[in-house]
Amino acid sequence: MIEFPPVPAGEPMSVSASLYTTYLRCPAQALAHAQGVYGPDSRASFSGMLAHRVFARHLTTGPIADDEFALACRQEIGRAMNPKLGSLQLRPSQLDGLIAEVGALYRRFQAASHEGCRGVETELVVAPAPDVTLRGRIDAIFDDAAGVRLVDWKTGALGGAQDQLSFYALLWGLEHGELPAVVEAVSVASGERYEEVPADATAAATAARIIDLVVTLRAGFIDESTVPRRGGPGCRHCPWQDHCEEGVAAVRVLSA
Ligand code: SF4
Repeated sequence: MIEFPPVPAGEPMSVSASLYTTYLRCPAQALAHAQGVYGPDSRASFSGMLAHRVFARHLTTGPIADDEFALACRQEIGRAMNPKLGSLQLRPSQLDGLIAEVGALYRRFQAASHEGCRGVETELVVAPAPDVTLRGRIDAIFDDAAGVRLVDWKTGALGGAQDQLSFYALLWGLEHGELPAVVEAVSVASGERYEEVPADATAAATAARIIDLVVTLRAGFIDESTVPRRGGPGCRHCPWQDHCEEGVAAVRVLSA
């Protein structure tokens, strides 16, 4: 049985895996996101989102034929991604190029075995305290001989996948009473793979960090200056970059 430690009462908070990993990189950027302020959409995130829609379609309705692929992509964009397409202002020829890139990712995705998949884009929602909700969306759930395996697909580098996987493992443990057997991140772009067997100690450390996030961001809602800023690659996509000294310095170094 996985127990979540007591959380101090306060402002209601919804903590997603994305907010959690952003917080670990830069608490101030997480504060911006918690307040509904995001940086501009990027072509890379749009293409990654479309690839995930295509992977989910493959696993739920079957393989997509080559001559139907562009239409399938446009249907997925039309379902939920039109606002992002509008903000990127892609010309038709640029969209064709992006769909071709997603097609290359899809061919790599198809080459892997997906035997034992029993859940796609599964939402997990757990409330460890009356005013705190944890949310995660698992790309795929597999039943293996060893037990449940949670998989997160990446369309770029694996990056900070370990923290995201620990968040999913904790959510799964809170909802199902035991941790998954394995959590795994796979880069469809490079074939790189990271796998971990979740442990109680990691789940406890993740819960402690989530409580730290909740306490820190609640304080930030009252006084933004109490929240630490940590410059890094994420500054490029931060909505506060223009008025953040750390961000300006980080982007200057990254652009040198
Ligand atoms: S610009 Fe960089 S350091 Fe500043 S808040 Fe954003 S991510 Fe943090």
